[in-house]
Amino acid sequence: MLQDLPARLVPWFEKNRRDLPWRHDREPYHVWLSEIMLQQTRVEAVKGYYERFLRRLPTVEALAAADENELLKLWEGLGYYSRVRNLQKAAVVIVKEYGGVFPRDYEKVLALPGIGAYTAGAICSICFEQPTPAVDGNVLRVVSRVLASDQPIGEEHVKRDVAQRLGKIYPAGHCGDFTQALMELGATVCLPNGAPLCAQCPLAELCRAQLANAQERYPVRAAKKPRRVEHRTVFFLQCGDTVAVCKRPKTGLLAGLWQLPDVPGELTVEEMLRQAEDWGVHPRNIVKTVRRTHIFTHVEWKLTCCWLDCAEQNEFTWVTRRELKETIGLPTAYRQFLAE
Ligand code: SF4
Repeated sequence: MLQDLPARLVPWFEKNRRDLPWRHDREPYHVWLSEIMLQQTRVEAVKGYYERFLRRLPTVEALAAADENELLKLWEGLGYYSRVRNLQKAAVVIVKEYGGVFPRDYEKVLALPGIGAYTAGAICSICFEQPTPAVDGNVLRVVSRVLASDQPIGEEHVKRDVAQRLGKIYPAGHCGDFTQALMELGATVCLPNGAPLCAQCPLAELCRAQLANAQERYPVRAAKKPRRVEHRTVFFLQCGDTVAVCKRPKTGLLAGLWQLPDVPGELTVEEMLRQAEDWGVHPRNIVKTVRRTHIFTHVEWKLTCCWLDCAEQNEFTWVTRRELKETIGLPTAYRQFLAE
């Protein structure tokens, strides 16, 4: 069953592959960067970021030496900022320990900061033609449907089992194509949410879910825990033509990034003014307030943002609106208020 996949998928991929910027070569730095950017982010959204990032930081050495603020700015809007921090940490290791040459050994790749089994598998198969599967949600969905498997795909042991089984059927000389073919099929044909395009699928004749007309039953997922909801009040403090920003704590959500000042809870207008007074910015008046929701993987922020005209600056960092737009890497949860 699974052993029939390479012979069907590799030729299909050759004909149907999308032309994506990171598929123009098999340079490890390019494949690595694209795989990290694509985690939790759509292909269309990544394209522009990928090209801009490489124009500015074309080599691993340039990434290792980049200024943190610039790095965060290049990542602004992509979210999950630990990804770009780990990219730089790994680049430093590659420069210092491997003389700037990407390691080829799977275990060494896996040991780099921010690189898990999926990314290590993708890099080693695509760049170095090794039989190392890259098992993500797309691949799990395809395999689960082909096998009509009742195993819940969120479980680590299920992922490991799928990786192990795929590892045994990798076609010598086409490892990179097989990895990409599985990903591509999941992304463009074996679509999630019960909408697979089976009539276009090279696996249709052997796919058990399709043969039983039970595609919507797979993949099986364990019930998700509901997200925690947190209320926060965000302050858009304006003093002349400057706006207050500060750094987030070094640990936790959005660690160490810039933010608009905020406090837990949904404050009343009186409480907002009192809070601003406590910060020593002497608020003159509240211009407006706006409510927005921002969703992270495990937490949902209910945000109330208030715009305050202030008479004084305090110990926050005060930047012009232009600087806020062009040089400060502000996470989307806060950045959304710039457009209000
Ligand atoms: S036949 Fe349908 S369900 Fe099966 S792998 Fe192809 S697209 Fe997915």
